[in-house]
Amino acid sequence: MAEVSRIIPAPTPDAESAAFWAAASEGRFTLRRCRACDRAHWYPRAICPFCMSADTHWVAASGRGVIYSYSVMRRAPIPYAIAYVTLAEGPTMLTNLVDCDFDRLAIGQSVALVFVPSDGGPPVPMFRPVV
Ligand SMILES: [Zn+2]
Repeated sequence: MAEVSRIIPAPTPDAESAAFWAAASEGRFTLRRCRACDRAHWYPRAICPFCMSADTHWVAASGRGVIYSYSVMRRAPIPYAIAYVTLAEGPTMLTNLVDCDFDRLAIGQSVALVFVPSDGGPPVPMFRPVV
């Protein structure tokens, strides 16, 4: 488990993401969804990026998704994997893959959310492969 000794920098919440990080601190993974077009988006924004409606709200997300693409940073002092994960709710997010054998990762693989502690801030959403 490469994650054990890797330091994850603390996220810096802003006005649009503060509620996301507050929920994350309670172990809840949330997304912003638009009532006008019924689409969820990432990262959290007050204005829907698809239809520009201001009628967006927080919803609980499943934490399930699939790997869209990934890259293993093998030259880092502690190797890690960055990835785009497409969430079951639709959005694709830049994240890290953890708790896995980097040689067995595959595009299209199913993954599930894990919150990884950060260095003095809220936990950061990452993903691990699931069967
Ligand atoms: Zn919309």
